Amino acid sequence: MKEQTLEEWEEKYIVDDVKRFDEKYQMFLRCMWDAEIHKQLEDWSFRERVEEEGGYTLEDRALNNASGGAIILQNLGFDKPYLTQLGYMFNQMIGKKGSGSRRRTKMDAGDSARTTNVVKKAATWFGADLVGVCKMDKRWLYSHCVDPSPGMNLMRISSDLIDLESKPLELSEDYQYAIVTANEMDYELMKYVPSTLGGTATTDGYSRIALTNHYLTAFIKNLGYDVIDCSINQFVLNVPMAMQAGLGDIARNGLLVTRKYGCRVRLNVLFTNLPLVPDKPIEFGVTEFCKSCEFCANKCPSQAICYGERTSEVPTESNVGGVLKWPVDGIKCRKYWGTVNKMCALCITVCPFNKPDTAFHRFVRWCTDHARWADPLYIKADQWMGYGKPKKADNFWEEWQPEKSRRMKV
Ligand code: SF4
Ligand code: SF4
Repeated sequence: MKEQTLEEWEEKYIVDDVKRFDEKYQMFLRCMWDAEIHKQLEDWSFRERVEEEGGYTLEDRALNNASGGAIILQNLGFDKPYLTQLGYMFNQMIGKKGSGSRRRTKMDAGDSARTTNVVKKAATWFGADLVGVCKMDKRWLYSHCVDPSPGMNLMRISSDLIDLESKPLELSEDYQYAIVTANEMDYELMKYVPSTLGGTATTDGYSRIALTNHYLTAFIKNLGYDVIDCSINQFVLNVPMAMQAGLGDIARNGLLVTRKYGCRVRLNVLFTNLPLVPDKPIEFGVTEFCKSCEFCANKCPSQAICYGERTSEVPTESNVGGVLKWPVDGIKCRKYWGTVNKMCALCITVCPFNKPDTAFHRFVRWCTDHARWADPLYIKADQWMGYGKPKKADNFWEEWQPEKSRRMKV
């Protein structure tokens, strides 16, 4: 692994002016208002789907839905550029106007290296598996943000079209820093993707980032500084921010590959005016490995992931322009989800980087990082070992050992 300067990072990824787009075009939101796409989604009721088949039973559904219990925290809106209904009601109750306030006594942040260490330790204590810091880079902000104040559920697609409004995203220049966190998604549950049961790892991941950032937001405000919580996937493209914060590198499947957990993570960004020391972007052979691999492109049931070399051409208005990468066609992906009435995430589970953080896999990662010529061999070995094959869930509740899950550490 090697650290990059920001100039080296720019040279590798940025080929033109970055073209920001409206948050309305983020695929979950776009499905709600874009009539052309909405009509292609034959069925989006998979969040209610219950069947006798293992992976789709009532208890599987219950585990998945309950795992999303903390997602509500992201809708409170105390620390957003807008104020949601819930946030408004809360502030009315406690007699405040505007978004949540911070403590008046400020921490002396003169020693930003120490402050950064304090913030990273607190974030880890609050549940983050990885923490990095970067400078605010407005190129990754959405041009407009969606105001969900009518009480809409951003995670649920309604059968009726919604007239979704967005407004220019304006942030104070005071927010000079971003704290980027990653929460691991459960390795064992991910094996059951693309069933309801497998989807639990994703739902749980969203809950955990909402929870972690709820605490972390309160922590920074108690230090006397301001913070904006971008969970979940709001206001900013979190992959380039996570790259600049040194958490990992972008892969063919469009996701961030971290060294410890591969792309089996959920990301979040917090903006703050607390002075911090930025981390450096890192490189550990992901781009080269993906050139040889293409496994996610082969396995993607909707052909949303492209083959060949990286490109700056974008397949849809929901992709950011000016960046050299493998762009994923979110319309094809979401259309597939709507057609088969389930979520997917196969592009995460089949990825050879998606392994538990054991001594053996750390050794393999070290080898892949130091012997590029052997990439095709690692890819073959991964397939021979049967990694990434969806697991049958018929005996899940008899065999499951949740006490062995890393999630229990939180
Ligand atoms: S979630 Fe499934 S359909 Fe969508 S890009 Fe990944 S593999 Fe393809
Ligand atoms: S499956 Fe292969 S090509 Fe796809 S992201 Fe993972 S390493 Fe890259």
